[in-house]
Amino acid sequence: SLQAKMSRPVQSRRLEGVDKNIWVEFVKLAATYSTVNLGQGFPDFPPPDFLKEALVTALSGENHMLHQYTRAFGHPPLVKILAQLFEKLLGQELDPMTNVMVTVGAYQALFCCFQAFVDEGDEVIIIEPFFDCYEQMVTMAGGTPVFVPLRLKAPENGKMMSSADWKLDSAELASKFNERTKAIVLNSPNNPLGKVFSRGELELIADLCVKHDVLCISDEVYEWLVYDGKEHIRIASLPGMWDRTVIIGSAGKTFSATGWKVGWTVGPNRLLQHIRTVHQNSVYHCATAAQEAVAQGFQRELMLYGKPDSYFVQLPKELQKKRDWLVQSLDAAGMKPIIPEGTYFLLADISNFKSDVPDVPNSDEPYDSRFAKWMVKNKGLAAIPLSAFYCGAHKNNYSHFIRFCFAKEEATLKAANDILQKWKQEKTS
Ligand code: PMP
Repeated sequence: SLQAKMSRPVQSRRLEGVDKNIWVEFVKLAATYSTVNLGQGFPDFPPPDFLKEALVTALSGENHMLHQYTRAFGHPPLVKILAQLFEKLLGQELDPMTNVMVTVGAYQALFCCFQAFVDEGDEVIIIEPFFDCYEQMVTMAGGTPVFVPLRLKAPENGKMMSSADWKLDSAELASKFNERTKAIVLNSPNNPLGKVFSRGELELIADLCVKHDVLCISDEVYEWLVYDGKEHIRIASLPGMWDRTVIIGSAGKTFSATGWKVGWTVGPNRLLQHIRTVHQNSVYHCATAAQEAVAQGFQRELMLYGKPDSYFVQLPKELQKKRDWLVQSLDAAGMKPIIPEGTYFLLADISNFKSDVPDVPNSDEPYDSRFAKWMVKNKGLAAIPLSAFYCGAHKNNYSHFIRFCFAKEEATLKAANDILQKWKQEKTS
């Protein structure tokens, strides 16, 4: 009846339980209160000149077609250069038209994957801590997220913690795979830990995927940001994995231009054909000029591959210095850092600061979340609570770490250091 229809909620079932987004909340807090923002993950330094110049040329050059629609599944120069690059990285022949698709950032690539592969009743394994949108996107597609945690093993006496101390328990991981498992989401280098998965860990995941016929959605947006000579290993290059893996990347992270929102998927046509279906029925097409400029950026990088002038060599070198600087600063302030092997994030332990932040007994909100809010309001320093990267049931298990982004100008990191050292002095005086 009309009565029954009118008493139904106006929103579709897809929106049930996915209405909260921590970024909306913490970005607003940072905008309102922060003087130093080490919260959301974006550089406050400019992208490289060659990239900016490529965009200027795309916009003001002779080729006015760069202001118009281009190919729906990716501007031809961009998919061609991406195919060339990934052929080299994977040792796998690629067809730019069927093995690569351009998206509006890695975010849309993720959304397309879940829409393309996940049905009601399907389970998707997510390794905790995880980039928060995976959970909501799986739920929106009708699937069931299944969580498996990386567990922190205490480091040897006196040693600083490292993101490598966070480990998968192989038996626990294996126990999550069953006949309902459709996919696993892998994010290496991992946001928020900065963990770079080792070959052994990737082989463990790969073997389980092959054994249980499971897809791997491999979010590799931080692929170029690895430190201390560590190697980023692509799971798609392991035996049996190419045919079941979708690699996801982002020009935002690769070229320090997160606002451009250019991303991509790379994988076998048997998977990408369905990603194309989602794309053509939703976004259809990504901004042409930005794709053109990113294509130019990759052409330069392919030419300079492995050479000292390459941005892919220089950026991690610069970021490693910034990482070390923030590690020192946090350590001196008594906020014990976990040294990341990759990404532009690091976690710091806030246990020593418990006396400063008023405890709210029986609060539903994890301690780190209240701490991060208190810190931005009272100290002007913005960071993101680790609990934001856990599912609802596990949020209180790891609630004494906050995540800092160190992809920042020296002046920003210095200003953060000033806040931290002054705070420490107030505590001890
Ligand atoms: N995956 C991870 C792990 C990320 O950290 C981010 C950005 N924070 C994204 C995907 C989204 O990337 P993009 O900005 O290209 O959409």
